[in-house]
Amino acid sequence: MSYRKQQGYYRTCRGRCGQRRRRFRRTGVRLPAVIIGTVLILILCGRVILAGGIGEITGQAAESQAVETAASPDTSSGHQDSRASRSHQLKNAQEQVWNLVLVNPWNPVPENYEPELTYLRNGQAVDSRCYPELQQMMDDCRAAGFDPLICASYRTMEKQEALFEDKEARLIREGCPENEVEAEAAKVVAYPGTSEHQLGLALDIVDVSCQQLDTEQENTPVQQWLLKNSWKYGFVLRYPADKSDITGIIYEPWHYRYVGKEAAAEMYENKLCLEEYLGIN
Ligand SMILES: [Zn+2]
Repeated sequence: MSYRKQQGYYRTCRGRCGQRRRRFRRTGVRLPAVIIGTVLILILCGRVILAGGIGEITGQAAESQAVETAASPDTSSGHQDSRASRSHQLKNAQEQVWNLVLVNPWNPVPENYEPELTYLRNGQAVDSRCYPELQQMMDDCRAAGFDPLICASYRTMEKQEALFEDKEARLIREGCPENEVEAEAAKVVAYPGTSEHQLGLALDIVDVSCQQLDTEQENTPVQQWLLKNSWKYGFVLRYPADKSDITGIIYEPWHYRYVGKEAAAEMYENKLCLEEYLGIN
């Protein structure tokens, strides 16, 4: 809530309190009338009691209670519906949250996106907001006896363009037809502007003993540990083997994306990729 809104809230509150005080003063002036009214009510109550009315009143209360009990399952299912709708709305709102920004071949990096970066000792950089959990994950992985290495992290637009052009040049050298070069390159290197690495929330992590970016990674001790534990630190394997149709990216058992602990837990438990978690697939 903004400071201005808070001020508005306090002003409204003061106004209401003022009205209440004024009403209270008027009530004080009419005290004799209140006493007379109370006496009349007591007389009427006495008549009801004498006529045996207590049983009826109690009966009505019991009936009313029974109706409430009978109605409660409906009310509770109504609550469930509203909870479901609230959680849906929450997910929609979360689409705008920094840790759930969706970047894929159909959703480019938001314009002028410039995360605040924290630089790692090996020169890699990540969005500062996910740095503490990344550091913890790396520390715990090493403490478990493994040897992880972050070989790619934040990339500028220029860096992504250079990688893409390199890939295109290599394809041309290998004899790829010119009209297919761009599409072929995009299968392996994200088209500039559509790489998650440009968010500063994506990392390529490999095992020091096996640094090739291919499916062999999934068998390394580091990947085995990360696949089992990364969600606890808010990271998910972003491009699972069976989700390529949805993510638009081939299986990459080395590319991790920070989504936050809550989302990572839900995605891990339910085997969802980010598109599915956000309901965009
Ligand atoms: Zn990557």
